[in-house]
Amino acid sequence: MSGHLFDAIVVGSGITGGWAAKELTEKGLETLVLEAGGPVDPNQDYVEHVAPWEVKFRGMGDIRKQKAEQYVQRECYACDEWASKFFVNDIENPYTTDPDKPFLWIRGRQVGGRSITWGRQSYRWSDLDFEANLRDGIGVDWPIRYHDIAPWYDYVETFIGVSGQAEGLAQLPDGKFLPPMEMTCAEQTVKEAIARNFGGDRMMTIGRSAVLTQRHNGRAPCHYCGPCHRGCSSRSYFSSLNATLPAARKTGKMTLRPHSVVHSVVFSPQTRTVTGVRVIDGKSKEALEFQGKVVFLCASALESARILLNSTSTEFPNGLGNSSGQLGRNLMDHVMGGGAKAEIPGHEDRTRQGRRPNGIYVPRFRNVKQRHPDFLRGYGFQGGGYRKDWQRAVELTGFGPEFKNMLKRPGPWQFDLYGFGECLPHPTNYIELDKEKTDGWGIPALKIHCVFGENERALLQDMSITAAEMLTPAGARNIETYIENNAPGLTIHEMGTARMGRDPKTSVLNAYNQAHDVKNLFVTDGACMTSSACVNPSLTYMALTVRACDHAVGLMKKGEL
Ligand SMILES: Cc1cc2nc3c(=O)[nH]c(=O)nc-3n(C[C@H](O)[C@H](O)[C@H](O)COP(=O)(O)OP(=O)(O)OC[C@H]3O[C@@H](n4cnc5c(N)ncnc54)[C@H](O)[C@@H]3O)c2cc1C
Ligand code: SF4
Repeated sequence: MSGHLFDAIVVGSGITGGWAAKELTEKGLETLVLEAGGPVDPNQDYVEHVAPWEVKFRGMGDIRKQKAEQYVQRECYACDEWASKFFVNDIENPYTTDPDKPFLWIRGRQVGGRSITWGRQSYRWSDLDFEANLRDGIGVDWPIRYHDIAPWYDYVETFIGVSGQAEGLAQLPDGKFLPPMEMTCAEQTVKEAIARNFGGDRMMTIGRSAVLTQRHNGRAPCHYCGPCHRGCSSRSYFSSLNATLPAARKTGKMTLRPHSVVHSVVFSPQTRTVTGVRVIDGKSKEALEFQGKVVFLCASALESARILLNSTSTEFPNGLGNSSGQLGRNLMDHVMGGGAKAEIPGHEDRTRQGRRPNGIYVPRFRNVKQRHPDFLRGYGFQGGGYRKDWQRAVELTGFGPEFKNMLKRPGPWQFDLYGFGECLPHPTNYIELDKEKTDGWGIPALKIHCVFGENERALLQDMSITAAEMLTPAGARNIETYIENNAPGLTIHEMGTARMGRDPKTSVLNAYNQAHDVKNLFVTDGACMTSSACVNPSLTYMALTVRACDHAVGLMKKGEL
């Protein structure tokens, strides 16, 4: 492979790398996909149907080992006894922060990346989001608008399969949906109460999820087993392992090389283009080099920026493509964890069937029609209504057979509204290479500087108030509001470290995710984001990736790359 000139090199095989691999190979490019982690065999490694009594610690996890080796990753709900193998070893993959500014960097290093463990919530952005920076005079303006990306959302959704309900909202455009999942009766009650009481400004819909509700593109519908973060043997949710990588493989044009840790990108000052990448073999630690006509960085927002910061030359002493000085800056992650929970009385003759891998969604309603006096932008709620089960024992007192029999029956209906808010881009939230620490392959580790600001804190505060406001008219009992104090990073929507923009002086990438400074270098993961909106971002990363691939291949065909 070394010495061979590939048409394209894709770094990373997660959500965006899988898409780049599929699109570039299907368009005829001989493509090398370099993945830092090892291979995953769905037939062996997916463990969603393994019962707690079949695992060593009965589902409680090897706490001593996790505290020693996954002290960051264990903060993520999905890093459980089954799925911890899909999260990185924190000793081999270190990073540093300022002592009083924690950042929780949750990562997966294997073929498939975090597409194996992701929560699959998939929402489109609207022009409310693409115009936000321009309107508020914050950061830089997005170089695209909704109409530029809409056809690519269509394309991505048609391939991956997103179940959802069309609602006709301007701030949350409808997609190409498969049939929606059903709401529980507690959800119906809250939905109707919101519709009756907020003059149409607030509403609730079923979550839009990349989980199949019917057979789609050769993949089976979901059978509602529940623990999707452990894999999906029926390939019913979208992951690169389940969908895009098999499509790329089918073309015969993809070479996938696991255990290939990309160290840096090679820049040629003569041609002012990149010629390939330097790699450290993940197992032998041998230094290698691979050549490609075009390079797509899809290693995730912080990893792609880290690779570029580590790619220095006389022309780019502060990182490749960094003539603007914005590389590594404007780091964002959604602020999460303001909300309310309560009991919904009634419906005691009803319960749920199966474990629906989805919840409800309350789309953004703040700063949509009217400007809010206390903060910019907005938030949406995820959550749902479910019957409490035997685990409510911790909240009750009782003893003996009577108590046990009571717990065998479902408890009252419980409802949670949990907010996810927009994070503003600030150049002072940034990453740099740590001057001393290196990772397990000798590559400089990142030093991350990131804090949530006043606007994010105001959103959290407002979430807890409006969540309670929406539960009250549903007749909810025992409403408990809360405001969590989560460190940035934990929402796992980190983005912004190589932003897109119109002006090369203030942004790293152009409207097609192409480096302003180096025309055959593309970055299509979350690094490219100019602002964060408040919805889960991966669908937008996918649409931008596909759009960038189309653009790159178009330029290649015209002989311009
Ligand atoms: C538990 C959980 C729940 C989530 N829920 C949602 C959700 O509901 N909706 C949503 O939109 N998003 C969700 N996310 C976030 C989502 O997973 C990410 O936005 C998405 O995976 C990003 O795609 P990516 O391709 O940029 O990165 P990844 O999917 O992380 O893939 C990056 C790949 O690059 C590889 N790589 C990294 N560095 C190098 C290197 N130097 N050389 C070679 N390869 C490298 C990695 O090993 C990895 O395989 C969730 C994430 C988690 C963990
Ligand atoms: S709940 Fe559905 S999508 Fe999730 S693992 Fe089970 S079958 Fe797959």
